Amino acid sequence: MVRRSRLLWPLLLTALIAAFFILLQQLDLSRDRPHIPVYGVMGFAFGEPVDYQTCGFHTGQDWFAAPGARIFAVADGTVVYVGPLWLDGPGEGRGPHAIVIDHGGFLTTYSHNRAALVAVGDQVTRGQHIAELGSEGFSRGPHLHLEKVLPPFTGDWRQPFESCRAYVNPGDVWGWF
Ligand SMILES: [Zn+2]
Repeated sequence: MVRRSRLLWPLLLTALIAAFFILLQQLDLSRDRPHIPVYGVMGFAFGEPVDYQTCGFHTGQDWFAAPGARIFAVADGTVVYVGPLWLDGPGEGRGPHAIVIDHGGFLTTYSHNRAALVAVGDQVTRGQHIAELGSEGFSRGPHLHLEKVLPPFTGDWRQPFESCRAYVNPGDVWGWF
């Protein structure tokens, strides 16, 4: 009897935990929330003052993780640009593999990537693996620079959005999963 209960309780607990996660998946509570862009730490916030580009403030969030870490689309959308990206500064500040995704109503950009895994015209889904994290361009170490931007996307990599006011706060990182 003692042996049987020792086996029974861990099994029951495992089954309960599994049922809990299956239920969570079925409810799909996370569907309308942004997917986390990378399993890393958001270490430099939107809006902080910077002196390396014309807006004068940090136009996105910096997420720190290991080189090659998987970068995910935060929402469903269409890839509208893959290539160099910068704000009328010198060189390819965001590296040669930056990505811009149009979500309808807003866009997101993913910069400093080591590699881009999507092409212009691709339809992507929330949480899709779209890039490998890197340190390309103006960067002191491996990180993702994530931006949320209001349309339109100009298509010009040196001035991709109409004004500095187009850049908005990507959101409360603790609400993302
Ligand atoms: Zn940044």
